[in-house]
Amino acid sequence: MSVNQSAPPVPPFGQNQPVYPGYHPASYGGQPGPAVPASPYGAYNGPVPGYQQTPPQGVPRAPPSSGAPPASMQAPCGQTTYGQFGQGDIQNGPSSTAQMQRLQGSQQFGPPLAPVVSQPAVLQPYGPPPTSTQVTAQLAGMQISGAVSHAPPSSVLGYGPPTSLASASGSFPNSGPYGSYPQSQAPPLSQAQGHPGVQPPLRSAPPLASSFTSPASGGPRMPSMTGPLPPGQGFGSLPVSQPNHVSSTPSHALPPGTQMTGPPGTQMTGPPVPPPSMHSPQQAGYQLQQNGSFGPARGPQPNYESPYPGAPTFGSQPGPPQPLPPKRLDPDAIPSPQLNELPPQQRARHRIDPDAIPSPIQVIEDDRNNRGSEPFVTGVRGQVPPLVTTNFLVKDQGNASPRYIRCTSYNIPCTSDMAKQAQVPLAAVIKPLARLPPEETGLLCTPAPGTGPVDQASPYVVDHGEAGPLRCNRCKAYMCPLMTFIEGGRRFQCSFCSCVNDVPPQYFQHLDHTGKRVDAYDRPELSLGSYEFLATVDYCKNNKFPSPPAFIFMIDVSYNAIRTGLVRLLCEELKSLLDYLPREGGAEESAIRVGFVTYNKVLHFYNVKSSLAQPQMMVVSDVADMFVPLLDGFLVNVRESRAVITSLLDKIPEMFADTRETETVFAPVIQAGMEALKAAECAGKLFLFHTSLPIAEAPGKLKNRDDRKLINTDKEKTLFQPQTGTYQTLAKDCVAQGCCVDLFLFPNQYVDVATLSVVPQLTGGSVYKYACFQVENDQERFLSDLRRDVQKVVGFDAVMRVRTSTGIRAVDFFGAFYMSNTTDVELAGLDEDKTVAVEFKHDDRLSEESGALLQCALLYTSCAGQRRLRIHNLALNCCTQLADLYRNCETDTLINYMAKFAYRGVVNSPVKTVRDTLITQCAQILACYRKNCASPSSAGQLILPECMKLLPVYLNCVLKSDVLQPGAEVTTDDRAYVRQLVSSMDVAETNVFFYPRLLPLTKSPIDSTSEPPAVRASEERLSSGDIYLLENGLNLFVWVGASVQQGVVQSLFNVSSFSQITSGLSVLPVLDNPLSRKVRGLIDSLRAQRMRYMKLIVVKQEDKLEMLFKHFLVEDKSLSGGASYVDFLCHMHKEIRQLLS
Ligand SMILES: [Zn+2]
Repeated sequence: MSVNQSAPPVPPFGQNQPVYPGYHPASYGGQPGPAVPASPYGAYNGPVPGYQQTPPQGVPRAPPSSGAPPASMQAPCGQTTYGQFGQGDIQNGPSSTAQMQRLQGSQQFGPPLAPVVSQPAVLQPYGPPPTSTQVTAQLAGMQISGAVSHAPPSSVLGYGPPTSLASASGSFPNSGPYGSYPQSQAPPLSQAQGHPGVQPPLRSAPPLASSFTSPASGGPRMPSMTGPLPPGQGFGSLPVSQPNHVSSTPSHALPPGTQMTGPPGTQMTGPPVPPPSMHSPQQAGYQLQQNGSFGPARGPQPNYESPYPGAPTFGSQPGPPQPLPPKRLDPDAIPSPQLNELPPQQRARHRIDPDAIPSPIQVIEDDRNNRGSEPFVTGVRGQVPPLVTTNFLVKDQGNASPRYIRCTSYNIPCTSDMAKQAQVPLAAVIKPLARLPPEETGLLCTPAPGTGPVDQASPYVVDHGEAGPLRCNRCKAYMCPLMTFIEGGRRFQCSFCSCVNDVPPQYFQHLDHTGKRVDAYDRPELSLGSYEFLATVDYCKNNKFPSPPAFIFMIDVSYNAIRTGLVRLLCEELKSLLDYLPREGGAEESAIRVGFVTYNKVLHFYNVKSSLAQPQMMVVSDVADMFVPLLDGFLVNVRESRAVITSLLDKIPEMFADTRETETVFAPVIQAGMEALKAAECAGKLFLFHTSLPIAEAPGKLKNRDDRKLINTDKEKTLFQPQTGTYQTLAKDCVAQGCCVDLFLFPNQYVDVATLSVVPQLTGGSVYKYACFQVENDQERFLSDLRRDVQKVVGFDAVMRVRTSTGIRAVDFFGAFYMSNTTDVELAGLDEDKTVAVEFKHDDRLSEESGALLQCALLYTSCAGQRRLRIHNLALNCCTQLADLYRNCETDTLINYMAKFAYRGVVNSPVKTVRDTLITQCAQILACYRKNCASPSSAGQLILPECMKLLPVYLNCVLKSDVLQPGAEVTTDDRAYVRQLVSSMDVAETNVFFYPRLLPLTKSPIDSTSEPPAVRASEERLSSGDIYLLENGLNLFVWVGASVQQGVVQSLFNVSSFSQITSGLSVLPVLDNPLSRKVRGLIDSLRAQRMRYMKLIVVKQEDKLEMLFKHFLVEDKSLSGGASYVDFLCHMHKEIRQLLS
């Protein structure tokens, strides 16, 4: 049977969608790509007209948000407004008469919207303001104080008038070389000792919001203040938009009436000087600190004593001797200082205290403490799950586990107007094939006859026989716990589109007195949030059940690959790795066949048929017109051809040992692999091991077009765009064949990752990059990644569709996939680590009663060649009060979505525009909360919703990330690499990627088995007497303080002094002592948690490598100009105030 390349995958999957139009000039606003208008994928790679340009009807461009498009943008039924979007269909209910337009994807980063909050009459009827605790913190030269007040579910960090201020900093013992900053560097005004932020919260009324008083200027740099501050008006006089909000020293005069605690000018030099506090240095020495120029004077030690009795410890600071505060009831509460406890002087004068602004560490710890012990049961609609950083067990009782789906909010505004007002993106981050821990499979149901767990990582598989999965006739939603059975069980009403359907006789069952089918708990599809259906032949390409997939290993054997030892290493590894190909649960051996190709300027195919005594090589030198020279014997069963394969893998390194060929081709290699799969009529995966820019004469030939001078210019976006359209075309063919491409790169210089990663990105594959690969240094990392990549659960030739209940619909998608229409996410391959982020918009009013329902259906071919449908269902609440939206948000998911949105945007817009858009949106989100949900308070207070109090710090991390604000050491390839990596990350990965974990290694007792509590990612949290470990999912550092005890150095590094430790060391010596075992064990456990092997780098304090490490101290100002957390918070406050004024 011939394989029809443009045949649509699986017609029945999206039945009411018009027949797949093949791959006509698809337009796919969702994917980035450079403009190659002439190519069939012009729309894909090119700024889709709608994406780059103003939408046809003059709708204002807006940052991503959840509002539905304005009515004027709605196309009449059936009309395609954006021709390039292909034909969308209406699948989720009769009410959707307008074709949804992909507004978001089709918008350019443009001028920010007018402030939402400036519209009159946006107030919503809120009940009496809920009580909450208000912490007033003063940034920069003012006081941090707090007062108990009424506030809605939010924490308030306010900058109130001095009378309400409490002083807020803790004092540190002045110990160690980094104990304190020299007095001369510490501004007096930062010396207050109180620590309002560390007061225990009210037990009876947990604070729900954080409020900060804003500093009197755009930043904490006091010297620039020139005037008095009006009470509560920190940012009033700042320019509306500072292009670079952090790098310029604010020098604006403060508005008259601004109340400062000291006369202008005295701020820096004035007031009584309290004992050096941990906070004062931060203020004064801030810049110096960043430059590393202030010598031994460093941040305070984590072990400080809080001056306040009962002050909680912030940021997991190891235990101050004071009595512990009572357990905090509200996980996210900002402690409220008891004003009365503070001496007036302390209340009077202050600067922002890093400990009084929301701490990621504290939020994470509180969530662990409060939610880690109880299982998360999914039976209730709209529940916000524990944070991704919390270990918890999930019990599936009808909604998909958060391991499969996480949402930005679990309570969606009923109307698009509300959604537009709030600007909170409504999005779900879906990981359809996520691996569940063994204890979470089969919790609820005993398998019904004919069903059962397929393997430990899969949910239940349901077989509805020849009729196939039961679906709604109208919207094609699959049978799920959300459907309602009526008329004694003879019919069911679809909860997605309200259509009433007949129950087929073979599926009939009686209802109990509650209206529930009596067999509900015996059937996964009626009781679980996630399960699988066996698909019938109707769900298969060309109406034919698929063959098992194949893996093809394609190895660059050019000079560089041979010289570095890569080829030898790889061939050796493959001999054993082939025994670990993915298997269906219970199967004795993998059904996956394998094939081998080597290449440089030409390709070599190998016949490894089991009947041969020796492998045979066939060379194809006509790379312009690639064909596969052999069919029989190319793809083989590993067991049967074991001897021939082993012989081949032994020979390859020898055959090319003396090669002088330095040039490579690339596109023809992928082409060859894809053609081989096509000839074998199967889906599969190509594993490409490639070393250099493909400059040999061939399709897809590339040139070195790297140009760092483009950074920060309007042309910077071209660095992220593929330099030729060849790869999009190729990717399209690969997707049609179910050919997924995983690319392992070993570059010594620029290889144009932006172009080479196009095919992996569009086929659901992965890219790995090992710059300057050397076997000695990188072997472990590469082999670990390779093993994991080869063994992981993967589905092939997949199509994903997200259906929603009437009123909202999926409008935009982010991740590694291809789309040829507006609704179906096509994945040549999808592995257990990949996520797809989906944004929703309103197209009608939602009701609180029925909520909003999502059903994600993934049709795929398993590793044994079985065609299956994996279904995930999730029910969300809907609200008519904005406060409910803000109360049920998940900031980690918001950040995941916003980062993906921004990273996609850099292909079409200047990076600065992208950054500004993020800032504006964040300000709008927070301003809307302030205006509509927070209780009245001084304008000088920054009020953050409790669930979003980390939004500023995390967003700042995104803004200063390598893609959006690269440092000098970050290469163009690095940026392209990270960009595509983030596009598929799940929420846990983005969380640690943007805000790394920093763990003190020598603080906790040596015999403690638990992970040490993390500290905030800031230099001032480092003590020179300690050793720290930092990881972000990709990088792993061990930082050694200069005054670490000699015994510790000996135990860990086996040398007698700090100076003898080798900087840049990548392996810790294996020593038989408790500390060494503990640290190495911790490193192993961290590596096991992450998707990719993290290479270790040992960094010594004050060593030149330390710069590399400091890049990850994300609360500090970065060398590339990224704002410190404190500065950014001040800037955000200013933006919010402008929106509110
Ligand atoms: Zn329906």
